[in-house]
Amino acid sequence: MLKQDNLVFRFHGKPTTSLDTLAQKLRKVLEAHGYHYSRISRSPRLVLNFISNDAVKSYRRKAQATFVLSLLEASEVSQDPIRAWYPYLVRALSNMLLVYIPGSQAHFLTLDLGHFVESEGEGFAERLFKRINPMASSVLVVNNRFEQDLEPELWEGDELTRALSVAGCKLGEWSLLPAAFPIEEILSAEDFRHVKRLYGIGGLSYGNLSVREDGSRFWMSASGVDKSKLSEIGRDILLVKDYDATANAIVLSVPPNVEPRRVSVDAIEHWLIYREHPEVGAIIHVHAWMQGVPTTQFQYPCGTYQLGQAVAEKVRQSPDPASAVVGLKNHGLTVTGRNLAHILDRIDGKLIKQVPME
Ligand SMILES: [Zn+2]
Repeated sequence: MLKQDNLVFRFHGKPTTSLDTLAQKLRKVLEAHGYHYSRISRSPRLVLNFISNDAVKSYRRKAQATFVLSLLEASEVSQDPIRAWYPYLVRALSNMLLVYIPGSQAHFLTLDLGHFVESEGEGFAERLFKRINPMASSVLVVNNRFEQDLEPELWEGDELTRALSVAGCKLGEWSLLPAAFPIEEILSAEDFRHVKRLYGIGGLSYGNLSVREDGSRFWMSASGVDKSKLSEIGRDILLVKDYDATANAIVLSVPPNVEPRRVSVDAIEHWLIYREHPEVGAIIHVHAWMQGVPTTQFQYPCGTYQLGQAVAEKVRQSPDPASAVVGLKNHGLTVTGRNLAHILDRIDGKLIKQVPME
């Protein structure tokens, strides 16, 4: 876990007068919660990156663990905030965007298309901090280590990987795989590579699914691929065999002569659940909601150890961990089952496509 003395933050770019006032308030709150301001740190934990409509400057991280919050001032709320502001989030290569409408509101946008609002007033800066802190203090597990040791009899997959393809098709049929926001269209090729490296994503796509192979290994969908067309082993479907805590890397078994794709960023969450509950045979994550589900308290980013732990905790508290439905705050659902059919049968017809944002 992070030590307090690692919580260094800095500013980057030129703020407008209003953003500067807000930043000074945020600075006070951050310092009150154990963060340290540094004017020049090269590997800060958190960067407050000021951008404007005509100058979207990105902060180039030297370290993957740096969390970039970009701040933009706007004069009014847009009709479609995601359409209007999401490009700023991505173009500034940030993890999160805060759009400040002075005297009124702050809108937050996250990479997974999360969008929520804080109104200005009593305890404003403190409330903003509570939104930023879980994100800024969590640890991404997006490193992949590929080992070409997959048994030849699994190079073409098995009945489990075929069941995974079928389940992916079902999610497509149920329109649970919305078209990804075309980030590659708003970024240069170089920035797009940078984004992929940073967030461990092979493009934005939604949801993931996995199925247990044996006592310690599970198959999981790759990052950024169309989940309704899962077929090739090592490209669309990967075998997760371990998590290397020292290297903070997911370890994958792949066939030789395949250029592997990255596994879904939520592999760490699935790994934590499978390891703890031998009776869990499959896990599906979708960006949809179900009435009355237990929900994680904080909004951690996808692919972080903290999100994995928060979900694993809810699964543990469920009366039957092998048939749990857990809400990920402002994000979606993770559903466990004895096998994939056991999940699909339980969610069929019950999903609400709009995730409530609070
Ligand atoms: Zn997700």
